[in-house]
Amino acid sequence: MSENETPICPACRRPLLTRFAKLCCYCGAALPAELLLAPEQKAEIERRELLEWRQRQEEAEERAKEKKGARSSSGTTIQMPPRLNRNPHSSSTLGGHGT
Ligand SMILES: [Zn+2]
Repeated sequence: MSENETPICPACRRPLLTRFAKLCCYCGAALPAELLLAPEQKAEIERRELLEWRQRQEEAEERAKEKKGARSSSGTTIQMPPRLNRNPHSSSTLGGHGT
């Protein structure tokens, strides 16, 4: 059982960052199947990651709601971007019709 061990590329002997890639990310050598995760394992990990991601999304949403509610008490101001001081008469410096 080598599930928890870091797989090492047999070609360049570097630890693989991912067990999903079929090729070594360093030297591009094809990796033996035993170093890679089985499709079922991969699916399970992806499902777990998706669940975690959803949880994180929900947490972030709740935190955003809390922030909105606490804004009146803490008085945090949202920084507005500086307005562009565009002068519509700036073209008058050209002086086309002075004479
Ligand atoms: Zn390699």
